[in-house]
Amino acid sequence: MADALPTCLLDGALVSTSAARISPLDRGFLFGDGIYEVVPCYGGRPFRLQAHFDRFQAGLDALEIRNPYSLARWTELIQGLIAANGGGDMGIYFEVTRGAGRGRDFLPEPGTIPTVFGFCWRLAPLRPEQLERGIAAATLEDIRWLRCDIKSVALLGPVLLRMEAHRRGADEAILIREGRLAEGSSSAVFVVSNGHIATPPASHERLPSITRLVVGDVLVALGLPLQVREIDRDELRTADEIWTASSTREVAPVTRLDGSIFRTGKPGPIWRRVFDEYQALKKREAQ
Ligand code: PLP
Repeated sequence: MADALPTCLLDGALVSTSAARISPLDRGFLFGDGIYEVVPCYGGRPFRLQAHFDRFQAGLDALEIRNPYSLARWTELIQGLIAANGGGDMGIYFEVTRGAGRGRDFLPEPGTIPTVFGFCWRLAPLRPEQLERGIAAATLEDIRWLRCDIKSVALLGPVLLRMEAHRRGADEAILIREGRLAEGSSSAVFVVSNGHIATPPASHERLPSITRLVVGDVLVALGLPLQVREIDRDELRTADEIWTASSTREVAPVTRLDGSIFRTGKPGPIWRRVFDEYQALKKREAQ
């Protein structure tokens, strides 16, 4: 885990991360009543910010929380945060909660002023030997709620799932709901079976991953078709390749599954092409 960088964003101002304070009555703290985003930033520039912003806005709309800023203002604030922390490659987190009420009531008080918080950390590219090793995944029953399409700060399900995955020696949990692949605890999932690349469709059971869209663009650039369809547990287990996809870990090959070596135990050949093209696309978009 990378440490938070020294300057954060709090209610429109850049302040010291260690000194920043919010009210204990904040509904984000009491109820997990807020929406967040994680945006990768390469060479000081946020990657696919518009798509992240659109998902962020959709989450705020679903919770009926007013977005305090326009995209232009958010862009300005995020650029300020990046510059204050020295630029380069970073993960950027920002959240808006419904704000602090006068007490603790499940029903929000009208006129509560949203709280804004953002911080960032250094994003280190995976070393070649880490890429070669791939990641270990554990399949677990999805214990989360039925609005996983909302990127809410209430993340107890994924926390418990990651703890269980860790106990099983895995880096990521791949979640199964009613026998079907849902997604990773913090990633989208792709499989390659019988030479076909597939990923499950958007639904209330999954977060609309931005990296999944990026991988979609990568596959178009490579001329590889993508099937968007449900994938059951058996297909996952017998797949030729499994990849996870997320903003900060990009597209990663699963080489161990449920405590055993998966396939050859090495990243698959299609993943390799996708990974290379992903890096090329990042460079193109940064120019
Ligand atoms: N699914 C879940 C549950 C996640 O938490 C995440 C990222 O944190 C993703 C998918 C991947 O989303 P993105 O590609 O936008 O990072």
